Amino acid sequence: MSKAWDAIIIGGGAAGLFCAGVAGQLGKKVLVLDHADILCEKIRISGGGRCNFTNLHSSPANFLSLNPHFVKSALARYPSKEFIKLVQTYRIAYHEKHQGQLFCDDSAKQIIEMLLAECAKGHVDIRHPVEVESISNEAGSWHVKTHSGIERSRSLVMATGGLPVPAIGATAFSLDIAKQFGLKVIDPRPALVPLSFTSGEFDNLIELSGLSLPVRIAAGSKGNRYGACRFNEDLLLTHKGLSGPAVLQASSYWAEGEEIHVDWLGAVEANGQFSCDELFNHEDNRLKLTENILASVMPLRLAKAFAEQKNLLGKKWAEVSKKDRQSLKELITNWSVKPAGTLGWKKAEVMLGGVDTKELDGQTMMTRNHPGLYFIGECVDITGHLGGHNFQWAWASGFACAQSI
Ligand SMILES: Cc1cc2nc3c(=O)[nH]c(=O)nc-3n(C[C@H](O)[C@H](O)[C@H](O)COP(=O)(O)OP(=O)(O)OC[C@H]3O[C@@H](n4cnc5c(N)ncnc54)[C@H](O)[C@@H]3O)c2cc1C
Repeated sequence: MSKAWDAIIIGGGAAGLFCAGVAGQLGKKVLVLDHADILCEKIRISGGGRCNFTNLHSSPANFLSLNPHFVKSALARYPSKEFIKLVQTYRIAYHEKHQGQLFCDDSAKQIIEMLLAECAKGHVDIRHPVEVESISNEAGSWHVKTHSGIERSRSLVMATGGLPVPAIGATAFSLDIAKQFGLKVIDPRPALVPLSFTSGEFDNLIELSGLSLPVRIAAGSKGNRYGACRFNEDLLLTHKGLSGPAVLQASSYWAEGEEIHVDWLGAVEANGQFSCDELFNHEDNRLKLTENILASVMPLRLAKAFAEQKNLLGKKWAEVSKKDRQSLKELITNWSVKPAGTLGWKKAEVMLGGVDTKELDGQTMMTRNHPGLYFIGECVDITGHLGGHNFQWAWASGFACAQSI
């Protein structure tokens, strides 16, 4: 049997490596075990290869959980500005893209190299690929069995992430270990995921695949697991359905069988660029064609599709009855469709659900009933909005855990 560690961390991704680096630099003897050939694949592919590593405005309001208060302590102790300082220390150039989202100028690989350098500073032992065969607790010591023997530790940190993108090694291992120790796990569900449709209403829009525009989107309801949402973001029409930031955000709140609601003019109106009432009532528009009026605030292809749906294509506005104008306005400002489903784990960016936060201490991420057993990162029932919040949770939960180790 080998020497005893202060902490064994299973999963060398965002949360695991960050936690390891901090704990190692606090003088702890840390071992990281990961089953992947290449570490941090999710960081590498994140943000289109540029890693949206945090968000300037990350706050508890950006997270979904059965207990939305749970993130408060960890986020307060390790806010986004702390991670930004670290990124600056490594002279990684970055920029703000949209609503506080920070991306590397060059490559997500720089964040991976930074995490590995932090681990090296803390003399962390990182081993991969290693299959963990079993985990047990014997007389207060955590025993991790791998093909090369048993490693013992005072603390065990589960950081194997969520189920999205199984092709790059995602597993339910942390959830399985949680269940092994009798912890409650909230049903996992794909989130930040494109939605698919079978609805007839969608048929004439499928031809518009590739079109992207800002919309206001609403999904969910008060009674849902995570409540309701409303976002002003870009929506992308694809040949499989709807995608883009607006739909990814809405997907986290959407429950099967429910409709989502799109106000195609809402985001532009929210910017104060025009008033929807004015557009529909302005006398100057009387001699214009319906589709051309709509095209003043949306792409012509989409304007034509809406006009066609209401049999108003090619009609002058003066010839359109009040009732038909109202019906067109209702279609455009409250377009409601029932998604058939999501595109599943292959296309999801994150997981909803995971280890129930009631089982964990929010200050340390340690389980309440198993001293020394921690869960951090995506395997916990905390899911961020799109925009760097999920990595911020990985850093913050990893930091809280490292302080406790
Ligand atoms: C395509 C894509 C793009 C994304 N872009 C962003 C973004 O720009 N900004 C953002 O904030 N979030 C983004 N995310 C989400 C973000 O990647 C995750 O929330 C984050 O990586 C979670 O960190 P983690 O450490 O919990 O899990 P991970 O980073 O997934 O790490 C888990 C580690 O555990 C290992 N592991 C899994 N199972 C086992 C096992 N059985 N034994 C041993 N090791 C195991 C894996 O190999 C992996 O190294 C994106 C996700 C995807 C899929």
